[in-house]
Amino acid sequence: MRVIDTGKLPVLSAEIFVIPLEANRFLIYAPLRRAAFVGNAGVVNFLADLKGGRVEGCGDGGNDDETLEFLRRLEIVDAGPETPPHEVFPDEPEPTSVTLFLTTACNLRCAYCYAAAGEGRARHMSLELARRGVDFVVGNALRRGEDHCEVNFHGGGEPTRNWPTLTATLAYARRQAEARGLKLTAYLATNAVFSARQLDWIVAHIDGASVSCDGLPEVHDANRVTPAGQGSSASVLRALRRFDAENFAYGIRMTVTAAAIPRLADSVEYLCANFHPGQIQAEPAYQIGRGALAPSAETETFVVAFREAQGRARRYGHELTFSAARAGTLTDHFCAATQDLFALTPDGSVSSCYEVFDESSPRAPIFLYGAADGKDGWRFDREKIAFLRRQTVDRRAYCAGCFARWSCGGDCYHKALVVHGEGEFAGTERCDIIRELTRDQILAYIAEAGGVFWHGMPEAVAATIEKCACVSCAEGENPPRVPLFV
Ligand code: SF4
Ligand code: SF4
Repeated sequence: MRVIDTGKLPVLSAEIFVIPLEANRFLIYAPLRRAAFVGNAGVVNFLADLKGGRVEGCGDGGNDDETLEFLRRLEIVDAGPETPPHEVFPDEPEPTSVTLFLTTACNLRCAYCYAAAGEGRARHMSLELARRGVDFVVGNALRRGEDHCEVNFHGGGEPTRNWPTLTATLAYARRQAEARGLKLTAYLATNAVFSARQLDWIVAHIDGASVSCDGLPEVHDANRVTPAGQGSSASVLRALRRFDAENFAYGIRMTVTAAAIPRLADSVEYLCANFHPGQIQAEPAYQIGRGALAPSAETETFVVAFREAQGRARRYGHELTFSAARAGTLTDHFCAATQDLFALTPDGSVSSCYEVFDESSPRAPIFLYGAADGKDGWRFDREKIAFLRRQTVDRRAYCAGCFARWSCGGDCYHKALVVHGEGEFAGTERCDIIRELTRDQILAYIAEAGGVFWHGMPEAVAATIEKCACVSCAEGENPPRVPLFV
């Protein structure tokens, strides 16, 4: 028992995680206070005593009082109860953002494609269905008194392969929004293999794009090939150069296979040295679709390569991101899949997940939660919506002791289903990557804040951080300049 004084007992007022660094150095992290510092075993023991009610301020200006004062400054002591993030939903989904899976056709045959696009019969969304989706979000924005709505063109294939619907839908959406005094934002997730005419149109009409590009031409071309097996880098890099010339907003989404891990840093440097993307995100390839049998890239070597690539990106003033490492963000969900994402399949089902873009997906019964109904309405399955909304990190026993939980949000639910089926979540290989990279971020925040402690988001980070990995987060408190799609 530490020295007792007659004063009020100091109370630990934060959820604390102690993360061992090296000998006698520990990262002390209070995620809900956005606070952290590096301490020794003495501080860790002090915190344990505090938690056990075995510390009292003695008021003699000694070491314990100094430590208590420091902890009060970080809201770790005597700051009252914490408020964990908790998303509140309306009874019925009222999205102001629609994602249109315009087609399952694709002009590429990427070796790791999650959608195995190009295989099977291609299906295209009709203009009528796309308009119905637009009408719904425009109506919701008006009902909710908002001044903004959003249309996103996405895959299951390459959205520009359904060019007539894409262009006509955007023209329609702009007319509808303008007539009602709403601002409309339109984003495109694309492989950036366009004709010259398409490139002109995109630069003139779309607000931003998320471009799939794996970096060095030879790395990109190893996987991102045409049906004839030719690399697509020349077309993609031409599009990026044009985007830069026009000051068009875009982010780059890199997919990293096991074979490409050793080239990740060079690839990131190549992109940083030659182009001006608003964001660069690198994710290990998922083992689904055409990549189902590929070796895992969710490895320690990915973390090592990511760190090296991050260092190179910073030399050019860029930040490399990984979707689930986002220290300082507070959320109980990973992505919009559990927050009423309103995405439409070509056949008119409503999906909450970017990887479930048609009715034949093995996980369609979970993520497809509605459909077009009657002449112009929508029908939603309330039970499915409630189930999806319940997939929060605080409901996962496995995540309870994880320091990254309030920023990770429980990671990709689709990925968890692929790994564990519908059984109890028991972590994935991504968890190690998430924790390592989140820890790096916290240490970087401490360093940026002067090297002693971090408390509150660094302004520069807050301005760019993605609230979550998915496009609907453009509606969030820290909208990314260009949403990146996972
Ligand atoms: S992050 Fe995972 S759950 Fe969320 S939309 Fe993407 S694939 Fe689906
Ligand atoms: S255990 Fe894994 S999924 Fe859960 S919060 Fe931690 S890193 Fe995220």
